[in-house]
Amino acid sequence: IDQVSLFQEDQKIIIHKYRDDNFQQRENATFLMLCRNSELIDVLETIQSVQDRYNNKFNYDYTFLNDKPFDNEFIYLVSSFIPFGSINFGSIPEDHWRVPDFINRNKLLANLNQSNDTMLYGDSLSYRQMCRFYSGFFYKHELVNQYQYYWRLEPGIKIFCDIDYDVFKFMKENDKLYGFTLTMFEYERTIPTLWKNFQEYLKLHYNKQSQQLLKLVTNPISNTYNLCHFWTNFEIAKLSIYQNSEYENYFKFLDSKGGFFYERWGDAPIHSLGVSIVVEEPHQLHWFGDIGYYHQPYVQCPLKNQVFINNKCSCNPDDDFSFTDLSCTSHFLNVINGIEDNSV
Ligand code: GDP
Ligand code: MN
Repeated sequence: IDQVSLFQEDQKIIIHKYRDDNFQQRENATFLMLCRNSELIDVLETIQSVQDRYNNKFNYDYTFLNDKPFDNEFIYLVSSFIPFGSINFGSIPEDHWRVPDFINRNKLLANLNQSNDTMLYGDSLSYRQMCRFYSGFFYKHELVNQYQYYWRLEPGIKIFCDIDYDVFKFMKENDKLYGFTLTMFEYERTIPTLWKNFQEYLKLHYNKQSQQLLKLVTNPISNTYNLCHFWTNFEIAKLSIYQNSEYENYFKFLDSKGGFFYERWGDAPIHSLGVSIVVEEPHQLHWFGDIGYYHQPYVQCPLKNQVFINNKCSCNPDDDFSFTDLSCTSHFLNVINGIEDNSV
């Protein structure tokens, strides 16, 4: 136990487990998971999958965030699954989570009631708080902003293939800013006014030379949102894409419109529209097609035989979602590779 040091403050607990290898070789990166104490078993399943398929070779840190303090059982069991490195447990500052004062309580309640059975999580306030936190706050947390890159995880996900290279080093060496696996279309009912507000933001504040990446999210015929988004339960990205005045202004502008509460704006469309204005070059986006990935209810499974075999994938390629009609991945890859595409 003398190889484990524990640092405890009100809002954070850091367990450091001695790492025998050369720290210099690792990028400044962490796994990141927002979760609840009640999700403990699914959290353990995620960690085991990530350790087995990737992190037992690389020993990156983990960071867990919660709107409530993590309990002892959670901290004990989670840290017992992670043999090396720092394991950060943090609470979210109150004012990064609670419903802001400018939100009209009656209007919010009305939307919660009326969305009860018209959309997933329609009647959940905490889901809206979660989406807003991931849209505009996670990258400001003191346990997170000490890192350069993060890999977002969620409870109950699964990695199906070995990942034999350092994905963070890959991001850095190839000048990548945002990496994704699954993509899909958003339910329009959750974002009735998002596109209109985004257009307003662009008109007022956006004057980039290259507007290539707006093609990710724009229907070329109607000039409306094509509803495409990165499925943000998986992200490997550089924190600096959010930690700048451009993204901050974008988030603040949208936040002030109240759509996180009067509608049910997800962090997936918010990140996707944000990436389309903040990232300069298409090649700075990366599709991790070699990573077999599951988040309920969809699977990405590599279709290329060589990838499947070399990486010992244990998913069924027939279950792959990424190249179905419900996915935006083909469209995104066309944009990234500079191929004309009027399909969405
Ligand atoms: P879905 O993937 O859209 O179905 O939503 P999830 O229920 O998986 O939530 C997304 C992420 O936020 C997961 O990592 C959850 O553990 C986390 N999360 C959602 N709601 C809360 C909450 O109220 N408190 C905390 N601490 N985490 C939450
Ligand atoms: Mn989830």
